[in-house]
Amino acid sequence: MSKRVFNFSPGPAVLPVKVLEEAQRAVVELDGQGMSILEISHRSKAFDDILAESKALLGELLGVPAGYSILFLQGGASLQFSMLPMNFLRGTGRTADYVLTGSWGTKAFEEAKREGAARSVWEGGKAGNYSYLPAQSELKFSPNAAYVHITSNETIQGVEFPSQPDTGSIPLVCDASSNFLSRPIAVDRYGLIYACAQKNAGIAGLTVVIVRDDLLARVPQGLPPMLDYKLQAANDSHYNTPPVFGVYVLLLIARWLKNDIGGLAKMAEINRAKARLLYDVLDQHPGFYAGHARADSRSMMNVTWRMQNPELEAAFIKGAQGRDLVDLKGHRSVGGIRASIYNAMPREGVVALRDYMLEFLKQQGASP
Ligand SMILES: *Cc1c(COP(=O)(O)O)cnc(C)c1O
Repeated sequence: MSKRVFNFSPGPAVLPVKVLEEAQRAVVELDGQGMSILEISHRSKAFDDILAESKALLGELLGVPAGYSILFLQGGASLQFSMLPMNFLRGTGRTADYVLTGSWGTKAFEEAKREGAARSVWEGGKAGNYSYLPAQSELKFSPNAAYVHITSNETIQGVEFPSQPDTGSIPLVCDASSNFLSRPIAVDRYGLIYACAQKNAGIAGLTVVIVRDDLLARVPQGLPPMLDYKLQAANDSHYNTPPVFGVYVLLLIARWLKNDIGGLAKMAEINRAKARLLYDVLDQHPGFYAGHARADSRSMMNVTWRMQNPELEAAFIKGAQGRDLVDLKGHRSVGGIRASIYNAMPREGVVALRDYMLEFLKQQGASP
């Protein structure tokens, strides 16, 4: 590789170099197969082995208990916004409770409303421009809710649940797209977890779903097969051609997390230390950098801030680009800067950004 920049893109996002190199080798020839990973049949033994190892490693890393299925689907997290209520809300006569903490959860909610009585259970988010999370005491769920939906990390606003809310016996469903595999989670507290792969778990085209098997009995008859969790589970994600290369890249990521990082607790520790480098600058220079998320709601994956003087934002981004710190522009709905520092962002990249933030502030004549 000639030159590698530090890529702070929210997704598709940075991948470990080791994973890229292994994927590159497999694109030419998958270990002793005499053909490329892009050429193998999804019904081959080679792919069966890849699928089985991916599921086993994900299960091990996340501590997925017995009684859950891991599915490899397509359509991105956005298709899950629809597939979830089709399977678990349509025709039930119940409500589905959505905890809206940012843009993605709001999109999921809009899709659920097409299928049934979706309800937003917390109105504090929008009023605060989605900069903080609800306290457990603010969440009053419908006793008969089909499920409760949360977005564990809101990628655009940069707010992340430190742990999941307690929903009692109501199944908890989570869009974990942008913090999947970034830290351990208590899978047994969830009914269903979904994540598109291109933020923290590989490449676009693969969506991982982890679903509690007893919920599959609730799936109504007559759904299109591709949108039927029960059928996808019964066919072990092989109803049609699964995203073979995406599953392979996920496997490489899972091996990297296990063997090179040492598991998700270790990964979380590394991620927290990386995020602290940036949040420390925000905390130490509040007259210059205005962090978006409230301190107790901060994301370890997407760090968002404005400049107190918004006119400096373009100059900040341009200067960063000159130092190979790329894709830092915030989403238009929040503005400012967003640094996405997923698992694969090396600490050196975050240090380089931190140093640049301090230098930029000095250049502008702000007190250091
Ligand atoms: C990126 C993202 C999505 C959308 O994912 P697609 O695969 O593009 O549909 C949904 N939810 C969250 C939290 C995301 O970060």
